[in-house]
Amino acid sequence: MGEFELIERYFLPLGLPIGHPVGKPAGGMAEGGVALGIGDDAALLEVPPGRQLVAALDTLVEGRHFLPGTDPASIGHRALAVNLSDLAAMGADPAWFLLALTLPRSDTVFLEGFARGLHALASRHSVALVGGDTTAGPLVVSVQALGMIEPGLALRRDGAAPGDLLYVSGTTGDAAAGLKLLQSPDLVKGPDAEFLRQRFLFPEPRVELGRALRGIASACIDVSDGLAGDAARLAAASGCGASIEAGRLPLSAALVNMQPVEQAQSCALTGGDDYELCFTVAPARAAEMESRLTNVKCRVTCIGRVEEKLSLRVTRNGKPVDCDTRGYDHFPGAG
Ligand code: ADP
Ligand code: MG
Repeated sequence: MGEFELIERYFLPLGLPIGHPVGKPAGGMAEGGVALGIGDDAALLEVPPGRQLVAALDTLVEGRHFLPGTDPASIGHRALAVNLSDLAAMGADPAWFLLALTLPRSDTVFLEGFARGLHALASRHSVALVGGDTTAGPLVVSVQALGMIEPGLALRRDGAAPGDLLYVSGTTGDAAAGLKLLQSPDLVKGPDAEFLRQRFLFPEPRVELGRALRGIASACIDVSDGLAGDAARLAAASGCGASIEAGRLPLSAALVNMQPVEQAQSCALTGGDDYELCFTVAPARAAEMESRLTNVKCRVTCIGRVEEKLSLRVTRNGKPVDCDTRGYDHFPGAG
């Protein structure tokens, strides 16, 4: 199958999911805001008046972000999920995405699974694929996600103030534990191991939660490199520090069932790839925030607070514990 047939067969159908945020043509706007999609030299997109465009891009490299031999549906899912997670962390409404796919050969089994995983997530969030690039080479997937938000409402990293409460969504540490299980030479069976592997392979971007936090969270970041490191980055961007109490960390039953609780806590603090949201709220607005979340499916947990002192402190029963907040560095030791 040649390049053009490949694009037509696998990617053209992702052009316009129903229920797109730009919605039905109105006031001369194109359907889904796509005046011109896949097929020309570039796409023409319409951002409704009074909204800002929000743009994010993330790349997955085989052997670095996923293991060789990974289920292609997971690769398609994750390539978009990590980008929707970035838009969620801004509180944006996702609208469109572009896909740059480099693959060793035109492999229909891979492409079918990849497009299926990508399509399932794209249609759940009503984002349309509007263009991309397809090249031969080592397996690398880049997605650029585009979304929209009203000016002034974006959830930035730099808005936290000392005294704000620090929250995290869902549970953390699962994806890192799942990756370890995927790397292990023997297949660990059972529902807990399966749950953890799924959390790595099919993370759920917290788009609904990000939307619900607009105008109420003082700062937000998505947890891709480990909760402690990402919380430290949020605090540093805000010119503050933060404290986390390990006993308050939300842990899944699967994570706790598979290891001693202190080890599970440490995994929850430093394990990456969870794509939960870590955010801050002024104490006076915490009740309002929690009541706004009654319709949002994922739970949130208060794990600490923003501090004046510029560092991240982790405590267990009030006593300080060591915690690595460096996260993953693609170029360790450089510069
Ligand atoms: P060009 O030579 O102008 O870069 P291409 O041949 O790369 O054009 O692409 C033709 C059309 O197909 C363009 O509209 C491009 O956006 C789209 N396209 C190419 N690869 C992909 C892909 N992987 N996903 C979605 N659209 C793609
Ligand atoms: Mg091209």
